[in-house]
Amino acid sequence: MSNFNVAKFGGTSVANFEAMSRCAAIIESNPNTKLVVSSACSGVTNLLVELANGVQDQARRSQILQQLADIHDSILNQLKEPSEAANQVYGILDTVTSLAEAASIQASTKLTDHLVACGELMSTHILTQLMKERGINATRFDIRDVLKTDSTFGKGEPELETIAGLAQQSLVPLCNEFVVVTQGFIGSDEEGNTTTLGRGGSDYSAALIAEAVQASGLEIWTDVPGIYTTDPRIAPKASPIPEISFSEASEMANFGAKILHPSTLVPALRHDIPVFVGSSKEPEKGGTWIRHKVGSSPLFRALALRCNQTMVTLRSAKMFHAYGFLAKVFEILAKHKVSVDLITTSEISVSLTLDQTDTAGGAPQLPEAARLELEELCTVEVEHNLCLVALIGNNMSESKGYAKQVFGTLEDFNLRMICYGASPHNLCFLVHESVSKLAIQKLHKELFEE
Ligand code: ASP
Ligand code: MG
Repeated sequence: MSNFNVAKFGGTSVANFEAMSRCAAIIESNPNTKLVVSSACSGVTNLLVELANGVQDQARRSQILQQLADIHDSILNQLKEPSEAANQVYGILDTVTSLAEAASIQASTKLTDHLVACGELMSTHILTQLMKERGINATRFDIRDVLKTDSTFGKGEPELETIAGLAQQSLVPLCNEFVVVTQGFIGSDEEGNTTTLGRGGSDYSAALIAEAVQASGLEIWTDVPGIYTTDPRIAPKASPIPEISFSEASEMANFGAKILHPSTLVPALRHDIPVFVGSSKEPEKGGTWIRHKVGSSPLFRALALRCNQTMVTLRSAKMFHAYGFLAKVFEILAKHKVSVDLITTSEISVSLTLDQTDTAGGAPQLPEAARLELEELCTVEVEHNLCLVALIGNNMSESKGYAKQVFGTLEDFNLRMICYGASPHNLCFLVHESVSKLAIQKLHKELFEE
């Protein structure tokens, strides 16, 4: 196996000169790191998204453009020889200015991708120069030449074979000579239009690139020192997990532990590439290794909390002893492109939660048209302000006795929907938002704090 390591740095890791310098030190500390994938500087993508949505007010537009210039200038100003990187960044800012104007007249998803990609295009110019000034033999590479996707703007679907072919052709040889710095999040379609993988997509990019170059390791550097037994802001006694399996980690990502983009582990798993997650602010604290095989597989590994859940309950007496009801329900949901997350059924009712498909945040909505169509079939009840608590572990569907421990701890809570048994790696349920943190605290104390 090669010793080829890919290191990815998130937005907060490249937020300013000091942060970028810490990244450079991390890169220097591992001579096997041949490829660096970077996000846009912290806050930049949000500003670009605002512009892409179409800002009519000229004054606000100039204000955003100024903010973008300031963020990058503050780093450029601390470089020894900023001129080349500065020229590149200013050139990109000119593009941003004209695209923002176009978006204020008519926004489109294609225009949005072109615009939001500029964040990563700028940060990588600066990071490359900073690395060079520290004596690293760095070069910048435009990943759009390799990371090919379909033309679904805003959520491009990567074309794996093409990516692998192009990476072997142009990226791998370059990495043999340089430490290559490239962009996360962005790609291009067959016609060369810029696409993106969706918000937070640079983890996913890094994993796709690691897969394409057949890397032996992928480091994801972010602002938290790895994966914890639960969010330490909720339960201060939460402890770091040094090593976790791919299955456990993907359950955690899916269930809202906001450490990794949920798709990240898919390519890593396909090629069995170990993934490290750590904090670029405190690299000495270590982090979490996500691997195929791990030393221990405890029954309880972690607790995740995901709020903004929408629960839909459908009831129909017709469902009793009838067939085809669920098929009909899912046909309607599919027709209206409603993606379902969890589901439980009883003889005459079915409860489901809606998947978070957009990037806007907030609770997912049941489209009115879908609701009307469902109401021809059954009664429809929609509830908000719910949170999903997921207990992640191993062999949960085969172990006896622990349900008593879990539900005993929560006997004073009104648990809404309980999903258990479908996956050996999780048990999850819904609780009202107002008590969700308390539920996590109680469970964490019972299951994870001796
Ligand atoms: N810069 C992009 C975003 O903020 C991608 C990423 O950071 O993962 O969504
Ligand atoms: Mg990010």
